[in-house]
Amino acid sequence: MTRVLVLNCGSSSVRYRLFDGDDVRAKGLIQRIGESGGDAADHDAALQGLMDRLDLSDLAAVGHRVVHGGELFTESTVITDEVVAAVEDLIPLAPLHNPGALAGIRVARKLLPDVPQVAVFDTAFHSTIPAEGVLWAVDRDLARRFGLRRYGFHGTSHAYVSRETARILGRPPEDTNVITLHLGNGASAAAVRGGRCEATSMGMTPLSGLVMGTRSGDIDPSLIFHLHRAGGLPLDEIEDSLTRHGGLAGLAGANDMREVLERRAAGDPDAALAFDVYIRRLKEYIGSYLAVLGRVDAITFTAGVGENSPDVRAAALAGLEPLGITVDPARNTDSAVIISPDDAPVAVCVVPTEEELEIANESRRALSLAP
Ligand code: ADP
Repeated sequence: MTRVLVLNCGSSSVRYRLFDGDDVRAKGLIQRIGESGGDAADHDAALQGLMDRLDLSDLAAVGHRVVHGGELFTESTVITDEVVAAVEDLIPLAPLHNPGALAGIRVARKLLPDVPQVAVFDTAFHSTIPAEGVLWAVDRDLARRFGLRRYGFHGTSHAYVSRETARILGRPPEDTNVITLHLGNGASAAAVRGGRCEATSMGMTPLSGLVMGTRSGDIDPSLIFHLHRAGGLPLDEIEDSLTRHGGLAGLAGANDMREVLERRAAGDPDAALAFDVYIRRLKEYIGSYLAVLGRVDAITFTAGVGENSPDVRAAALAGLEPLGITVDPARNTDSAVIISPDDAPVAVCVVPTEEELEIANESRRALSLAP
């Protein structure tokens, strides 16, 4: 068994999980780093505290979740000074996400100088999307100069649940086409053909695509110009609004799907409309990915909302029976795995995502270690 420490460092938090093979030996979350009353003064103190608490003898690797790998990183990569510099160069594309990961990488390399460290990128699984699926129809010189293209995110989750779906169905992964729906606070959809991603809903940043907890998802970009010109809003404020006050929060005043569902059930019209907009967007992406893939073997729900909300799953697929997609209400429960009827042409699955385990396994793969 190889022991791997997985670190998911944000700007003010460190999520960690220590694996021994597939077994979790320790896990936790250090929060509000740098804030008064927070768990640690900075990332140095947070990780030092972690090293003191955990038994890190025989550690074979540290796997770091890195949100943005740009065009350079198409797979998990052993961390060197050059890799750190390249991830730094990507900060303009991911100003909210990459600095936290970099802080974690720097401190972990300093504290554990003899343990190999691996960067596992949210974007890497999407590097197989063909050019027509990543390019927007904008001036190509500008696009090249500024890296304007779709990168996609949640890649470790889409990779893990699409592979798991094939395993659950007893099908060869290389001949299984899956639409994966990662519905958490952040949300994204992906079209996976034989284990390779062909389309995904997030773009250059995690802001586009599905309606999320606080992110708007797709909008007409002109509304940014309009808010700036006619509304006099500074660009930072518009970005903040679309990122932190959009999505379910923008429509219903609550970013938590449980609250939206409760208020909808109690007759709140804003919550009902937010749910409808959320479902409608999801359905539009499912339809689009049915067309991209042509033959779809399974549609898989994952993450907080996807794993836990029978209402969302049923509504997202309602009316698609003519396309071979059916949710069996008796199977669509809290403990469900396959929620379509046995003879359905398209299996509908619920697969809990395991992003940390995927990062641990990717770290071992990058270092050619035994599982
Ligand atoms: P993150 O993207 O932060 O990892 P999660 O995957 O944990 O988020 O998903 C969080 C979302 O899952 C929240 O909107 C929460 O309301 C939703 N959720 C959790 N449990 C349920 C449930 N039983 N029914 C509906 N939504 C749920």
